[in-house]
Amino acid sequence: MTRFFISTLFISLLLSCNSPKDMVVSTPQTPSTPSTVTSTYWQQHVDYKMEIDMDVNTYQYKGKQKLVYTNNSPDVLNKVFYHLYFNAFQPGSEMDVRSLTIADPDRRVKDRISKLNPDEIGYIKVNSLKQNGVVIKHETVGTVLEVELAKPIQPGERVTFDMIFDGQVPVQIRRSGRNNQEGVALSMAQWYPKFAEYDFEGWHTDPYIGREFHSVWGDFDVKLTIDKNYVVGGTGYLQNPNEIGHGYETGTVNRSNSDKLTWHFVAPKVHDFTWAADPDYKHDTKQVPNGPLMHFLYKSTMPKEKIDNWKKIQPKSVEFMEYYSKTVGKYPYKQYSIIQGGDGGMEYGMCTLILGEGTYDGLIKGVIAHEMAHTWFQFLLANNESKHPWMDEGFATYIEYNAINTIFNEGKANPLDNAYSAYIYLANSGKEQPQTTQGDRYTFNRSYSLASYYKGAVFLAQLAYVIGEESLDKTIKTYFDDFVFKHPKPLDIIRIAEKISGLELDWYLIDWTQTTNTIDYGVKSIEGKSVTLERVGLMPMPIDVLVTYTDGTTEDFYSPLQMMRGEKLTSATIIKDWAWAYPTYTFETSKAVKSVEIDPKGLMADIDKENNKK
Ligand SMILES: [Zn+2]
Repeated sequence: MTRFFISTLFISLLLSCNSPKDMVVSTPQTPSTPSTVTSTYWQQHVDYKMEIDMDVNTYQYKGKQKLVYTNNSPDVLNKVFYHLYFNAFQPGSEMDVRSLTIADPDRRVKDRISKLNPDEIGYIKVNSLKQNGVVIKHETVGTVLEVELAKPIQPGERVTFDMIFDGQVPVQIRRSGRNNQEGVALSMAQWYPKFAEYDFEGWHTDPYIGREFHSVWGDFDVKLTIDKNYVVGGTGYLQNPNEIGHGYETGTVNRSNSDKLTWHFVAPKVHDFTWAADPDYKHDTKQVPNGPLMHFLYKSTMPKEKIDNWKKIQPKSVEFMEYYSKTVGKYPYKQYSIIQGGDGGMEYGMCTLILGEGTYDGLIKGVIAHEMAHTWFQFLLANNESKHPWMDEGFATYIEYNAINTIFNEGKANPLDNAYSAYIYLANSGKEQPQTTQGDRYTFNRSYSLASYYKGAVFLAQLAYVIGEESLDKTIKTYFDDFVFKHPKPLDIIRIAEKISGLELDWYLIDWTQTTNTIDYGVKSIEGKSVTLERVGLMPMPIDVLVTYTDGTTEDFYSPLQMMRGEKLTSATIIKDWAWAYPTYTFETSKAVKSVEIDPKGLMADIDKENNKK
């Protein structure tokens, strides 16, 4: 999701913090081409065929779903589960109660769910479910459907589930819904019975409380029947553009005379299907050179200056598409849509739903840059968003900040400076929880946000300090090549970084993501040609040091962390390893020392900079 509201929340804090710093510059490491996908990796597969009939007057829809599920696991499955996310928008739901009881509720949710009337709530009601034609027992438990199988599913077996269901679109509360504050009729995210993921860690049937998603990769075939005046945007390639028109036509439009049109979409290799519809959508397209066709759908009824913003974002969005394709990996689909969904911003398959009425900067830098970055970090590299939100929010923030700095020529030496400041604020706040915390179970929403977005972004930025910038760039590209269309875990990216850099990095993953240990190194003393540093914090780090001699000259030194069993490539003078347990470390220089500074480029998230200089 977007960090739009977070940045406004913390903007004063961030602006008052550190000044920009330089990125570490190091010479490239010898490249290796590791394959980190071991033969033990497997993932489930699901093919959806859905026929949906939407009534735009009652906001109710009828659905038929044929789901072909392939059990690629080595396990026999006795039960299966579906998510019924729309059930969260009912008074008394876990999402409602959590919002009513957390100290700092999302201002967009607050007590709004508790006040929904029966015709305003969301629901998905499962009317019947069959496994290979045999009726099976199922029970709706909040936002999860628990299914007892007629027959266990064997390893390698493919089964078909047929479901008939009814849905009601809730009044817009969060991410999805009808008639939101910007007047978008239908924002349809997480709107269908969605098969839960099963992987080597077991079932992932997280109830929908607030945090995000994890689902099964597969192919979608969706036929959506809706009032003929509604313009639809979303996941999937339209198969019958000339029966539809509305800006999708490739030739003469030949519509039927009925009141409704049936839009037929196909989406290969995705783990979600999202759409939005409105009778007032204006629909523009823009081709990315050697890339997808971009679609822009926004309310034509907005004031002229808002419409102008939507025109201005189009060439810039193309630039972001090109930047991310170049720095992470080529965007693999033929289409990407930026759709005014009317609430925050959220990433989906081949599209994003965003707020539409912001300023130009707010739209492009505050929302689009981030949500498009999510196409890579979490859509294509589909980590579990509830379990490891820092892998998508943090990594998206990392490439987003770098992209904004490049595309808007902002000239920041360290594009991530705000992220460092926000993390250091969190670490010193006493309210930090480790990043291993499940997304819904942070004490404060604010701690979740700072840990996921900013500490997550610093994970990568600081990894550049540890292994060198070139190695990090290569790590990100290899991570994409090895895990596109898969479900990477935290260990996967660190193993790639290890193989590319030749350095041992388990300490980095453990201390940064599984604990709240902090980094604090200091300059203890200078005596003639002798410098003594100290480690105050628990988290180990290799140390870059800038020494200024009494004759005015300077020298860069680099003290490798012993447990890394090696050093990054650097032009600095390499001094002996620092073994972590020793609280102090002394090294000798060739000339009398005037002053010493640890990490002069500010790429180490040291929580107390006061002692970094002497
Ligand atoms: Zn996000």
